[in-house]
Amino acid sequence: MELVIKDLSKTYANGVKALDEVSLTIPKGMYGLLGPNGAGKSTLMRTIATLQEPDAGSIMLNDLDVLKQKHELRKVLGYLPQEFGVYPRVSAQDLLNHMAVLKGVTNGGERKELVNALLERVNLYEQRKKAVSSFSGGMRQRFGIAQALIGNPQLIIVDEPTAGLDPGERNRFYNLLAEIGENVIVILSTHIVDDVKELCSNMAIIHHGKVLYNGTPQAAMANLEGKIWEKQITKAEWERYDREFQLISTKLVAGQPLIHVSSETDPGDGFASVSADLEDVFFSQVMH
Ligand code: ADP
Repeated sequence: MELVIKDLSKTYANGVKALDEVSLTIPKGMYGLLGPNGAGKSTLMRTIATLQEPDAGSIMLNDLDVLKQKHELRKVLGYLPQEFGVYPRVSAQDLLNHMAVLKGVTNGGERKELVNALLERVNLYEQRKKAVSSFSGGMRQRFGIAQALIGNPQLIIVDEPTAGLDPGERNRFYNLLAEIGENVIVILSTHIVDDVKELCSNMAIIHHGKVLYNGTPQAAMANLEGKIWEKQITKAEWERYDREFQLISTKLVAGQPLIHVSSETDPGDGFASVSADLEDVFFSQVMH
């Protein structure tokens, strides 16, 4: 099972080039698509989900031509969009049942079993009689996964799924995705580096519609080994360091800036060498 994207391009009517010859090969497992807001992630996700047309390029899921065989693709697709509209005052159980009807699960008994199994799977069975509109962010996202799993999808797309979740909810959501990702392709689009770090065996970084990196998170970090330097400075010093060095990140630690710079050689000035983490990879890619 493999999703092969070749030279995909899209320019919107307002002239924004959202995808610029994007080529990616996405294997089974969890795949992270990491990029800042506006990078083109949603455009790519919606194009793979057959919700919009590219200007050029191709997408193949094994032998299936995604852009031509839309109907076939939709049968094997589970999609959790960024904005998941919910119907007010409809219980989780009823809404999921309704969605299963729409996805073609026509046998009533079979459908009931499926709905219950999915609610169990995402740990919402106890709350099945409650309106989805009353759910917390994390519960809604888990409900979103339940609906995306109807029909045993081979390809699952989740667009910015952890936005607005608290740490506990995020963890539960991670665990659920990791379990699902063992047997199918799961593409997770996010601007949160931790999402990819914790979950994904393969990843791409996209920025301004272009693929800047494509590979494992480990290889990306190994590429920067010995090139990341760290220093704790004071707030007053920050402006000077920002001017004189190529800062790739600034974190506040106990109220004081901890800066990372990328440099082939020791920048001196009291910087210490540190191992690169995925955040360094991300910021060094998108800032150059
Ligand atoms: P991301 O999901 O990474 O935040 P998007 O794919 O939503 O990125 O957007 C990529 C770029 O395309 C942005 O500059 C955005 O403003 C622009 N864009 C997205 N959708 C449209 C649209 N329907 N019409 C015009 N521009 C759009």
